Amino acid sequence: MQKEKLLPSKLPYVGTTIFTVMSGLATREGAHNLSQGFPSFDCSPRLSELVSHYVKNGYNQYAPMSGVPAFRESLAEKTSRVYGVDYDPETEVTITSGATEAIFCAVTAVVYPGDEVIVLEPAYDSYVPAIDLNGGVAVYVTLDSPEFKIDWQRVKERISPKTKAIMVNTPHNPVGTVFSKEDLNALADLVRDTDIYIISDEVYEHIVFDGAVHHSMMTHPVLQERTFVCGSLGKTYHTTGWKIGYCLAPKALSKEFRRIHQYITFSTVTPMQYALADFLKLPEHYEQLGAFYQRKRDRFNEALKASRFRFTPSKGSFFQIVSYRAITDEYDYDLAIRLTKEIKVASVPVSVFYADKKDDKLLRFCFAKDDEILDKAGEILSKL
Ligand code: PMP
Ligand code: GLN
Repeated sequence: MQKEKLLPSKLPYVGTTIFTVMSGLATREGAHNLSQGFPSFDCSPRLSELVSHYVKNGYNQYAPMSGVPAFRESLAEKTSRVYGVDYDPETEVTITSGATEAIFCAVTAVVYPGDEVIVLEPAYDSYVPAIDLNGGVAVYVTLDSPEFKIDWQRVKERISPKTKAIMVNTPHNPVGTVFSKEDLNALADLVRDTDIYIISDEVYEHIVFDGAVHHSMMTHPVLQERTFVCGSLGKTYHTTGWKIGYCLAPKALSKEFRRIHQYITFSTVTPMQYALADFLKLPEHYEQLGAFYQRKRDRFNEALKASRFRFTPSKGSFFQIVSYRAITDEYDYDLAIRLTKEIKVASVPVSVFYADKKDDKLLRFCFAKDDEILDKAGEILSKL
């Protein structure tokens, strides 16, 4: 009998991502799916009409490698309007297949074998595989629950001559914290007069609550000159399935970024780029997005008030983390699976966002869901 030939893995420590696992389980179990981060509601009809228009009118061939010019221009104008920072659409704005691709290309652009990259954890799950696939070494700084504040002194202590980049994420997935102006200043003080790059994941830029402001890395000159700002239109327009993201970075950084992007996907889906170029000119949607999600956060949290879960309201993103210490001491992964099967509410265990699977007894719920789902899930969870 022929022996099966095994292919050694470059990522031996990963299985299938938690989002795929939990959404699959939720579907099989007929559970309310508050696990994977995607809206249960549709995008604006106007946006769908624009896509139909471009599909029907022949905008169906390859887009230029760096993105449809009208879309890059529209994105640069919007960035200038919102943050007061100018990126040249010709040389400094690149459209990617989701923020995931943007993050991967940015990491690939800067990380050489043996380079160290500082990762603040809990961390979104695509960062470390991207570093590893490039031969880099992730150097972790763990943020302490329940506040998950960044201790910049600790970050400083982890910087070495091998540090090539620092990855940051604001608003934060999974814990829902946001950078303050002081965080930006502290980070700038660490990297000033160094060659350290910043890879900034800002996919939830428009989803901040309680009057907070999103402080993009681009708004600090010391950071702007060395940062790849990675964004996603999926979160802003309820279109996660379109996988349209982008990278904003100074010319020299974007040049290297594009060298890589052109051989990873070359370009991304064409008619959606034309549609988004038009839709970005209407600020109403992204301007009211924070208020829209704040109502959902409050509705879900209100329903949870009667429960034994403990939490601090999320400050940004569409996630709420909750502590279940008062209910059980089960491992969070086991609990998330059990709750999906037994009470039909799916969540994500926060331990998956740590390299050592640290279990702080926290679950992450996505509140980008219809009100009826939030109400029902809240009611069921309150009985635990
Ligand atoms: N970063 C964070 C923090 C995310 O939550 C996500 C996904 N939702 C991404 C990146 C990936 O974005 P995209 O779907 O545009 O690839
Ligand atoms: N970012 C989404 C989340 O955190 C999921 C994206 C994905 O499934 N890869 O749930």
